Amino acid sequence: MTPLLRLDEVSVTIPADGTRRRVVTDITLDVAPGEALGVVGESGSGKSMTARTVMGLLPRGSTVAGTVRFDGHDLPPAGSGNRAQRARTVTARRDIGMIFQDARAHLDPRQRVGDFMTETGASARAAAELLDRVGIDDPLRRMRDRPHQLSGGMLQRVMIASVLLARPRLILADEPTTALDVTTQADVVSLLDELRREDGTALVFITHDLDLAAAFCDRVAVMYAGCLQEVRGADLLLTAPLHPYTRGLLASRPGGRTRAARLPVIPGRPLSAFEAPPGCAFATRCAHVVDRCRETRPSLTARHGGLVRCDRVAELDTGPGAGAGYDTGPGAGPGRETGTASGVVAGSGSGSGTGTGSAEATR
Ligand code: SF4
Repeated sequence: MTPLLRLDEVSVTIPADGTRRRVVTDITLDVAPGEALGVVGESGSGKSMTARTVMGLLPRGSTVAGTVRFDGHDLPPAGSGNRAQRARTVTARRDIGMIFQDARAHLDPRQRVGDFMTETGASARAAAELLDRVGIDDPLRRMRDRPHQLSGGMLQRVMIASVLLARPRLILADEPTTALDVTTQADVVSLLDELRREDGTALVFITHDLDLAAAFCDRVAVMYAGCLQEVRGADLLLTAPLHPYTRGLLASRPGGRTRAARLPVIPGRPLSAFEAPPGCAFATRCAHVVDRCRETRPSLTARHGGLVRCDRVAELDTGPGAGAGYDTGPGAGPGRETGTASGVVAGSGSGSGTGTGSAEATR
């Protein structure tokens, strides 16, 4: 099937503190029409920057190498290309909707909810119907409210409704539930999944929660230091992960513990792309590192129906379930339980930061 979205060797550099920083490195990825792709990684892994690259929402002065194609057309960075190309890009991006992490930060506090939802030409009636579908009571009254009159959960529903109102063919959801409490998170995610399935909309779901991504995405891409490390069907990623980083993330989940126990950790702290060492970006934290890992950067290669970036994968792969026994190395605590199937994994925060310590990596 022809992909709806294709990223081909996309690398992104942004200006920061008087210098330039690489935030995304060589991302090659497809999303098929109607497919849900989860993108998982710690803070600074580049997942939000990847979505922003697709939308042309990078900071001024950023540079993008490689190509982003949507529905067969190149999407050059915002402002680049000739007038015709820019017009085509603007038109194509109207078929892509983005749900941001913090709805309150993306709504004008002076604007009424109804005005926000209808500013692109949708009718008030259609907006009210969609608000009703996303679980907003008395939608016509709520459309007269301003953002400060709605809770965080309601605002996130408003943002989802406003994106769906435009009937996009692709939704980029950047940690849409991070600001919500756990109960509301589950509601919002199920709702998003239900509505996008009804319309056959493709979804890129960015999260730090590997279990959440695997629960309702078809495939999951794991990012570290601005790079894809593993891409695999959601079930296989949980049951037979191949990359040491994915294995470490899965092993460090709280799982079904019934008593307090020290969780295994991935030693060190997450790195952003610009901090990554030569060779394998994960080498500074990997329990299986050998000298050659530090010399050559592994390529993303096909294995067991997915893609993995590790030159030792053949030696470490002992077949399905190998991930259950992965030793997360120094810092792994006593009483650990690995390979369990529930709980929260990976770090918090978006992909736009620079990463702050191993506690986030293992919570
Ligand atoms: S290439 Fe080496 S350092 Fe990198 S993930 Fe594989 S074993 Fe670990």
